[in-house]
Amino acid sequence: MVAVPARTDVVVIGAGQAGLSVAYYLQRLGVRSGVDQVVVDRGPGPGGAWQQRWAALRLGSAHRVHDLPGMRRAGITFETADRSRPARDVVGEYYGHYERFYGLDVRRPVTVAAVFDRGAELVVRTTVGEIVTRTVVNATGTWGAPFVPYYPGVREFSGRQVHTATYRDAADFAGLRVLVVGGGTSAIGFLLELEGVAAKTFWATRRPVDYLDQGTLDLEAAVTAVNQQDDAAKQGRALPSIVSGTGVPKTRRIAAAIERGVLSPRPMFDHLEREAVVWPDGSRERIDAIVWATGFRPDIRHLSPLRLHEKAGGVQVTSGAAERDPRIFFAGYGPTASTIGANRAGRTLARQVFAALGDTTTAPI
Ligand code: FAD
Repeated sequence: MVAVPARTDVVVIGAGQAGLSVAYYLQRLGVRSGVDQVVVDRGPGPGGAWQQRWAALRLGSAHRVHDLPGMRRAGITFETADRSRPARDVVGEYYGHYERFYGLDVRRPVTVAAVFDRGAELVVRTTVGEIVTRTVVNATGTWGAPFVPYYPGVREFSGRQVHTATYRDAADFAGLRVLVVGGGTSAIGFLLELEGVAAKTFWATRRPVDYLDQGTLDLEAAVTAVNQQDDAAKQGRALPSIVSGTGVPKTRRIAAAIERGVLSPRPMFDHLEREAVVWPDGSRERIDAIVWATGFRPDIRHLSPLRLHEKAGGVQVTSGAAERDPRIFFAGYGPTASTIGANRAGRTLARQVFAALGDTTTAPI
C-alpha cells in the first residue's frame, strides 16, 4: 500500500519529464528523494502522460523527445530508442529505468486533490493522506485537462466524440465517416491512421496548417511560440497552445499524404447537426464521429484553494514561481511545456526551490 510522509520540504506533483527533471536536480543539491522531497503521481506507472497516449503513436511521429538530464549516464537515450514500438511503452520503460537508476522515489498512484495555504506551511491533500510541506513544485502537465472548443450544435450531434486524450485506436472508427478537428501534429496523425480504416475523413482547421520544410521540430528552437508562452505566463493570461505556435514539420510521410490528397483541410465548420457537419458555404456532410485534436490546458485545478489565478485567466508565473505565492513553482508550464523546456525548468527550478528552503549552494548542477 503506497503511503506519503506526513512532512517534507518539497512536494513535486507529477512524475513526467518536468517533475523527474526537478527531482533529479534537487537530489544533486542534496535534497534527498523520499525524505526532504517527495514526488507523487496519479498514474499507474512511469512515463508521465506518455503512458496514456494511443498505441499507434511512435517516437518518430511525435516531435522530438529529449533525454532527461543524466539519462545517458543511466545508459539510455531516446535517440537510439526503438521507433517501431509504441511511444507509451518506450517512454514508460525509460522513465522507469531512470527513476530506479537515480533512486528517485515516486509515490504512485497518488492523486493530489488540493493544496492549501496554512500560513507558514502548505498542506498537500492526497488520496492517501496529507503532506505538510514548505514548497510545492507543480509538474502536472496538461493531459488531464483536454480542451474542446464550443461550436453550435455540438450538443445535438448524436455520433461518437473523442478527444486526443481519449483516442485509443483507429479501429474504433472502422467504416465510419469521421471529422477530425485541429491543425496540429495529433490531428494529422489521426487522419493518417484513419486512412483506409474509416469510410471517409474530413478535416477542419481554424487556420491553414503552417508546414515547416524540415522534417523535425525542436520545440526549443520554436522561439516565437516559446516567447508567446512566456509572455502569457508573466502576465497571468491563459496560455496559448505551444504546439499551435510552432508549425508542423513536413516529414516524408506527411508530404506523401498531402500528395495522395489525404490531408486536405477545410476552414472551420459553421455548426453541427444531429448527424452532419455544416460548412460555412451551407453545404453539409453526413458524419458519424468527431475526433477533437484541439489541445489541452494546464491541469491545475488542485491549486484552486490557493487562489493563484489572475483576472486575465491564467496564473502569473515569473521565472517559474507563482507571483501570488512564491512557494509554488511551476515546471513544464508555459514556456517550459516541452521535453527540452521541462529539462531546463528542472535545473533552474531546483536551484530556486533550494534557495527558498533557505539554503545556498555552490554545487555544480
Ligand atoms: P506529463 O508528462 O503530462 O506529466 C504530468 C504528470 O503529472 C503525469 O504523470 C500525471 O499522472 C501527473 N499528475 C497530473 N495531475 C496530478 C495530480 N493532481 N496528482 C498527482 N499527479 C498528477 N513535447 C516534446 O517535447 N516532444 C514531443 O514529441 C511531444 N509530443 C507530444 C505529443 C502529444 C500527443 C502531446 C499531447 C504532447 C506532446 N508533447 C511533446 C508535449 C509533452 O506533453 C511535454 O513536452 C512533456 O512530455 C510534458 O511533460 P510534463 O512532465 O510537463 O507532463
